[in-house]
Amino acid sequence: SLHRSEERSRAIEEQIAKDASGFRMLTGDRPTGHLHIGHYFGSLMNRVRLQDAGVDTYVLIADYQVIADRDGTGPIAERVTSLLTDYLSIGIDPGKTTIFTHSAIPALNQLMLPFLSLVSDSELYRNPTVKAEHEATGGRPMSGLLLTYPVHQAADILFCKANLVPVGKDQLPHLEQTRVIARRFDERYGRVDPAAPVFPQAEALLSSGSLILGLDGTKMSKSKGNTIELRMTADETAKLLKRAVTDSDRHITYDPVGRPEVSNLLTIAGLASGRDPRAIAEEIGDGGGGGLKKYLTEVLNEMLAPIRARRLELEKDPGYLDDVLAAGNARANQVADATLAEVRAAMGMSY
Ligand code: ATP
Ligand code: MG
Repeated sequence: SLHRSEERSRAIEEQIAKDASGFRMLTGDRPTGHLHIGHYFGSLMNRVRLQDAGVDTYVLIADYQVIADRDGTGPIAERVTSLLTDYLSIGIDPGKTTIFTHSAIPALNQLMLPFLSLVSDSELYRNPTVKAEHEATGGRPMSGLLLTYPVHQAADILFCKANLVPVGKDQLPHLEQTRVIARRFDERYGRVDPAAPVFPQAEALLSSGSLILGLDGTKMSKSKGNTIELRMTADETAKLLKRAVTDSDRHITYDPVGRPEVSNLLTIAGLASGRDPRAIAEEIGDGGGGGLKKYLTEVLNEMLAPIRARRLELEKDPGYLDDVLAAGNARANQVADATLAEVRAAMGMSY
């Protein structure tokens, strides 16, 4: 249940604070556009925190996953580079974290076949996220790739034996499918070491990040054109924030339910400045949306300035970016090859 997952997440956080060794975390993104401040405050900041706390972190650039919800890949090579640049500029440290592209890890993809043998079609149709994605396609036929998405995710998590996956509430069912596959693997194919399962039971770390709304007051999403991207300039950011939706009450208060748009701007200002959004609201008082946006523009641009400066430096050094990805892919391949060897041994296929 949600309550148990929340309790468990708190316990895991406490354990990490004491001793992070023994935790391996898998996270990632689809290369479908540029990262925005919703990604940053909603998940990236948290990844960096866990990485720096000593959690062994794997960051997947889910390139093949792009075609599960699109007809083509788009300008994917540029997007992979942009994602990698965003990661490094916000503090994902390739010395601590393994950054890799899905398509570069053949042994990861080979896990799909035994894993697919362990799930039924009705189980996949029942998966709430597959259902939701299917409904979002407007009744068009669902591809086999989309239907088997939970199995792909299981392979992404299990290839490196991650035992920790930061997720939103809506993604909990995916992880259950991963745990089921891990258990069934042992039941059907056996173990190499009778005392130890081949795969761990991956646990959800429920996101403590905030949901950030876009300039139009709906969830900030790269496909909606309502974003502030990490790579934008300070001027572009100022211009966009001027257009952000507020309301007609000039007296600024923090009231996420009653005044979602104004409160969202206060939330972002709070996250960017490390202050309590209520205190910011009080300070702005009767300054209206204009006063709020002026303050937000200042603190957001100030917070993003070093990230953007680093981003510009990285863009000038494509050789370095290539090296980082090559090293991450090499490390991920080593881990994937070892896991696949173990899987084949358990299946009696070590030849
Ligand atoms: P798309 O429009 O293609 O769905 P998106 O901008 O919504 O793209 P996703 O790839 O769906 O981005 O999001 C990846 C992850 O980033 C989410 O699981 C979530 O953790 C985080 N995230 C995305 N948007 C937000 C947001 N507005 N607020 C907080 N977190 C977000
Ligand atoms: Mg989305």
